[in-house]
Amino acid sequence: MDHSSIYQDHGFFAQRVLSAKPSATKEMTRLANQLRREGRDVITLSQGEPDFAPPQHVLDAAKQAIDENKSYYTEVAGLLALREAVSRQFERDYGLRYSPDQIQVGCGAKQTLYNALQATVQAGDEVVIPVPAWVSYSEMVVLAGGKPVLVRCGADTGFKLTPEQLEEAITPRTKWLMLNSPSNPSGAVYSVDELKALAEVLRRHPHVWVMADDIYEKIRYENVAFATPAAVAPDLAERTLTINGVSKAFAMTGWRVGYAAGPLELIKAMNLVQSQATSHTCTISQYAAIAALDGPMDFLEKFVSHYQRRRDNLLASVEQTPGLSCLKPDGAFYALIDCQALLGQRNAIGQLIATDQDFALYLLREAGVAGVPGSAFGLPGYLRLSYAASDSDLEVALSRIKTACESF
Ligand code: PMP
Ligand code: GLU
Repeated sequence: MDHSSIYQDHGFFAQRVLSAKPSATKEMTRLANQLRREGRDVITLSQGEPDFAPPQHVLDAAKQAIDENKSYYTEVAGLLALREAVSRQFERDYGLRYSPDQIQVGCGAKQTLYNALQATVQAGDEVVIPVPAWVSYSEMVVLAGGKPVLVRCGADTGFKLTPEQLEEAITPRTKWLMLNSPSNPSGAVYSVDELKALAEVLRRHPHVWVMADDIYEKIRYENVAFATPAAVAPDLAERTLTINGVSKAFAMTGWRVGYAAGPLELIKAMNLVQSQATSHTCTISQYAAIAALDGPMDFLEKFVSHYQRRRDNLLASVEQTPGLSCLKPDGAFYALIDCQALLGQRNAIGQLIATDQDFALYLLREAGVAGVPGSAFGLPGYLRLSYAASDSDLEVALSRIKTACESF
């Protein structure tokens, strides 16, 4: 934040807000939009947002809800019918049984994560976050007054946390372990065996809870299997909160519907937080989400095949680009590109590109491509691109990046 303001001099802003960083994905997207408004040609690959429309039956359900004037306050936890649909989905997909009381619907998965951290994290509490991780986890922990404990998981472990690293990171103050598979930003997917090995460590530390963010669950390539911690280690389900939502799988980012399932007392505390904040998400969106969860899923195959083609095009282009390399992502729609070989060099216009932030800003300003520096995800030396963009945008963006890197 801008510390020079008169508000800061008067101690107006809360310390926890001054300590937090704004969302880098949102910030890079804002900069890209600003440049575009100034007439620049900028391609935005800085925000993970499917470029498809939601399935027609979802749109129809929303229109019907509007026509029937279903625009009232719902229960804080969300419409019972929606929580029942979520409960059916958990049972159908993973054999996990949650009653509707054990489910909270929020304004996106983001709000359910926020609610859970607000409900549980106190000053001094630690939250273990394997990095690279989505930009918002650490800042949500800071906003709750806690301490993010970032554990670096580099390319050598496929950007995944090992049991040894987990064991080492846990202290008596550890409250949560955040897990996200498929991962934003790396696309890494944890196997059943990898989750079992982490669960083995957690069994030795009964005070540590698991927050499993499964939002990219449906977006996986080449039949890579999905596993969720509560199903892999049922004995830990009583200290596991599982987060999911419709934003990514159903291309419904703007509808703002996400949900969490877990132990009843935790969900009740999260409902308390939500009851004093947003009350609930939009009713129309909730009806649309019921149609999404209960409806046919055949559209997904098409979405995923498009993402896979784009991923493969991106990997092929990165391979041809001097100074860049990338591990193949198994899921989600992000590529975490290693740009360390370029750092410390001067670009075509003589600027020193010392950090991944410099590189991301160079690409934005000079090449017209918005990505997000890896340091925002806790792993400097990388650039994250979202390939949930049209084939033509992606092709142009990749060619611009290649030209920009060739000129170093
Ligand atoms: N978790 C991860 C890992 C994400 O990338 C996102 C995307 N913003 C979210 C949660 C939140 O998604 P939403 O709030 O749109 O449901
Ligand atoms: N999850 C997406 C991303 O990481 C959307 C933006 C955000 O909420 O951070 O780009």
